[in-house]
Amino acid sequence: MTSHLKTDYVSEIKRMRDEKNAIILAHYYQTGDIQDIADFVGDSLALSQKAASNNADIILFAGVKFMAETAKILAPEKKVLLPDMNAGCSLADSCKAEDFKKFIKSHQGRTVITYVNTTAEIKALSDIVCTSSNAVQIITSLPPDEKIIFAPDRNLGNYIINETGRDIVVWNGSCHVHEEFSLEAILMLKKKYPGAKIIVHPECELPVRLVADFIGSTSSLLEFTKRDKGKYYIVATEPGIIHQMKKENQEKEYFAAPPKDSTCGCSECNFMKLITMEKIFNCLKDESPEIFVRESIVRKAQKPIRRMIEISKNMVLSK
Ligand code: SF4
Repeated sequence: MTSHLKTDYVSEIKRMRDEKNAIILAHYYQTGDIQDIADFVGDSLALSQKAASNNADIILFAGVKFMAETAKILAPEKKVLLPDMNAGCSLADSCKAEDFKKFIKSHQGRTVITYVNTTAEIKALSDIVCTSSNAVQIITSLPPDEKIIFAPDRNLGNYIINETGRDIVVWNGSCHVHEEFSLEAILMLKKKYPGAKIIVHPECELPVRLVADFIGSTSSLLEFTKRDKGKYYIVATEPGIIHQMKKENQEKEYFAAPPKDSTCGCSECNFMKLITMEKIFNCLKDESPEIFVRESIVRKAQKPIRRMIEISKNMVLSK
């Protein structure tokens, strides 16, 4: 019965998508079935690039609110839909606009670089936005003596300081999912599979980053498993990405890094997993819930996001 309903949802979603000239963008942390129905799957950088350049009238975002807001900022003339408005982000919530304004004021003269995982208001206060895919490159593209504020993720911020040696003041925010991985459980898995490579997202805490064979954004971790000659991987990021890793390389094995509390399954992002096939179906049918961002915020937030896209374009070209 369930699979019958699911099949109906899938074909109905595809029919409405074509009829309404909609595009479905899905983040790597969505469930496998949603990734498979999407027109485009990617990390935050790739999704914002896609949102900025497509011919659809409607963007349905299978992801969390800050991502859908970013799409709306980049394509304000389009209708942007998010199937569940409760799909928030603990990292974005850890940086409120009023507090951040005071923080900027107390560190005047610094260039404000914010991670894409922020509200539209925070983006509007920024000079450049970045993602984990391009944070290091964006910072190294600035003159070496430029003083920087980085927000909101303290782990990614510390990772960037180590990588670049730049003068950076870091906001004290974090993602509850990436801080949940257990170093002990990862090392136990490694003992069981000594050949396994530990691959880690930079939002993870330092002890987990220190045992990593490779550190990178979600898409870089995927790329690493594609080109690496190894067979086993312990993956310390949201386990939704393993769906793509398996699609790329079925003969390899991937183990989701275990969380500190082995009973809670909390290495999965509860916000990302609020999006279901049924909600996508209803959202596309009703064209609601829809994302709205104040025009004044759109205008201010466009600049730092477009700067990121511009710098990232040059990065790809120079590869
Ligand atoms: S995994 Fe963390 S940073 Fe990503 S959406 Fe979920 S709470 Fe936010």
